[in-house]
Amino acid sequence: MQIILAKPRGFCAGVTRAIETVEKAIAKFGAPVYVRHEIVHNKFVVESLKKKGAIFVNEVEQIPIGAISIFSAHGVSDKVEEDAVKRGLDVIDATCPLVSKVHREAKKYEEEDYEIILIGHRGHPEVEGTSGRVKKPVILVTNEEDARNIQIKNSQKIAYVSQTTLSVDDTKKIVEILEQRFPSLEKGLATKDICYATQNRQDAVRSLCKIVDILLVIGAQNSSNSNRLRDLGEESGLPSFLINGALDIQKNWFKNVEKIGLTAGASAPEILVQEVITKIKEISKDEMQVSDMNGIEENTFFVLPRKVRK
Ligand code: SF4
Repeated sequence: MQIILAKPRGFCAGVTRAIETVEKAIAKFGAPVYVRHEIVHNKFVVESLKKKGAIFVNEVEQIPIGAISIFSAHGVSDKVEEDAVKRGLDVIDATCPLVSKVHREAKKYEEEDYEIILIGHRGHPEVEGTSGRVKKPVILVTNEEDARNIQIKNSQKIAYVSQTTLSVDDTKKIVEILEQRFPSLEKGLATKDICYATQNRQDAVRSLCKIVDILLVIGAQNSSNSNRLRDLGEESGLPSFLINGALDIQKNWFKNVEKIGLTAGASAPEILVQEVITKIKEISKDEMQVSDMNGIEENTFFVLPRKVRK
């Protein structure tokens, strides 16, 4: 049997920055530091930061007045920022710079009086953050059916932004429908807001699926980019599983399987990949070869928030 590892896979620059922000804040200011929302969507990461002294909360109201408070990589609305100021919190913003870019884009469209369509998953923290960056309601489009059915009052001036971790293919189809329905839709690349890490991991999995018999994706059930990787495997007709880690692996998945494709979402650490490899080796009686597929080297890097730089 053979395990072929996707390249690139796992941590992106935004996730690395968010985790380092929490670690550096604990080192600099001492524990505890408070983090609004899971810093990134991965239990392993969250649990290890808890052990170091991070306390995770859902809302700023749960944070003691004046405490060091970190916003997660997914970004927050203007209201959350304002609430944090009112509460006198000492905020360190770990929002991924590529999410902040979408916030700025939405604000610019609002200033120019566009109706704004937001393509994304209802209830996802990034969608809540982006929609809360503009004052007037955004029109949420979650799928092609929404794109076919939404009604827009001022159809002369419409623009769209999207979540950063969507399926490239689905987003292209949604934008195509919107363009047909609303000829005045602001022109742009359909995937303009989908981040480099999401696109690279999807491209890698698309290639990987051509040469393997099964796809395993390491990532949390609430991780948008990881779910999209699993979807790609299913669309390629492969048995495809989204797993938290080695404990989720089932022996019967590998019957008549020669080549296992393995990848990890942008918030899943490499240690989980290595644990999965060890587990597959344990349950397989065959000789196991492990290799990386040919893929691009990522060298994107984001500087840390100012307050934790030194
Ligand atoms: S997945 Fe993309 S947008 Fe999200 S943190 Fe990583 S680089 Fe930033």
